[in-house]
Amino acid sequence: MNESGKETSRSVKKPDRESSKKKDVILEINRDLCKGCGICVAFCPKEVLELDEHDKAVIRRLDDCNACRMCELRCPDIAVEVKKAENL
Ligand code: SF4
Ligand code: SF4
Repeated sequence: MNESGKETSRSVKKPDRESSKKKDVILEINRDLCKGCGICVAFCPKEVLELDEHDKAVIRRLDDCNACRMCELRCPDIAVEVKKAENL
């Protein structure tokens, strides 16, 4: 859609030579919003997340993330955001 110009910028695809779906996932944790309740850690089916020594959620195994968004949906403080590359 050259007329708007918007579609062109949104349709850029990253090369994915390692064919890893996990490369298409971006996981963001806002440490200012995280209160360390551990809910995301408990609900993540892939054990991607942990609490660090400051009681903040951290990403330990992004490669295992299946982008189910359970962490984002369960976080009571809206501190987690899961993005798939196709939606960026
Ligand atoms: S559920 Fe939200 S507030 Fe609780 S530890 Fe995870 S990111 Fe932090
Ligand atoms: S999106 Fe799913 S698999 Fe990935 S960190 Fe969140 S709960 Fe775990």
